[in-house]
Amino acid sequence: CGIVGYVGGQSALDVVVAGLKRLEYRGYDSAGVAVLSDGGLAAAKRAGKLVNLDKELAERPLPGGSVGIGHTRWATHGGPTDANAHPHLDNAGRVAVVHNGIIENFAVLREELAGRGHDLTSETDTEVVAHLLAEEFSSTGDLAESMRLVCRRLDGAFTLVAVHADQPDTVVGARRNSPLVVGVGEGENFLASDVSAFIAHTRSAIELGQDQVVELTREGVTVTGFDGTPADVRAYHVDWDASA
Ligand code: GLU
Repeated sequence: CGIVGYVGGQSALDVVVAGLKRLEYRGYDSAGVAVLSDGGLAAAKRAGKLVNLDKELAERPLPGGSVGIGHTRWATHGGPTDANAHPHLDNAGRVAVVHNGIIENFAVLREELAGRGHDLTSETDTEVVAHLLAEEFSSTGDLAESMRLVCRRLDGAFTLVAVHADQPDTVVGARRNSPLVVGVGEGENFLASDVSAFIAHTRSAIELGQDQVVELTREGVTVTGFDGTPADVRAYHVDWDASA
C-alpha cells in the first residue's frame, strides 16, 4: 500500500518511519522496515498500526544505518499477520523487498523456487521476489540488474523496492501499473509510492515511467527500462502544500 526508501546521511529508520506515517491516510493493516548496517541487514515488521511497529522497535531496536526501506501493507494474498507483513527476505537474510500490488504468476514462481530448495515462509505473492532477487544477485552481483531480470519474469501490477546487504550503498525500485516517485535530495535520495512521504525533505521529484527500474545511491539516480535501456529523466518541482 505505502512504500518508502531512503539512502543518505540521516538515520534511515527515522526517515522511513516518518515517511510511512505520512502515508497512513491511505489505510493499511501491517507495517515493516529494513535497514542496512555494518554489512548486514536488519528488519522489523508487525501486523496492525504503525504504533505496533514503533513498540517492536522500542523493544528490539535495529542497528543504525543510512540505507533503508519501509512498507505499510494492504493484504491481498495472505492474511494480515506478522509473517505476511513486508519486508520479505531471502533465506540468507541478505535481500529485503517491499511490494505494492499483485504478482499474478506467484504460484508458479513459488513452485519453481521450492524446487530449487528455497524455503518460503509467508503466504504472500511478494515473497517470491526476495528469493528471485537473491538468485539473480548471486550471478550478477548487481541489484538493479537483478531487479530488471526478475521484473521480466513477473506478471501483474507492482511497485517493488529492495536493498541487498552486499550492495550496501544502494536502493533499487521498479514499477509496472503502480506508482513510484523518486525524491531528489543533496547527498540523499528518496523513493516513495507518494510524494507526501518525502516532501519534508525535498520538493524535487522524478515520476518513474511504466516498466522502469531505478537505482538510488547518495549521489545519483539512474533509471532504465526493464530491458536495460537508459531512460531520460526530468525532475519536476512539487509545489502543492503537503502540510494540509
Ligand atoms: N500483494 C501484496 C501482499 O498481499 C502487497 C499488498 C499491498 O499492496 O500492500 O502482501
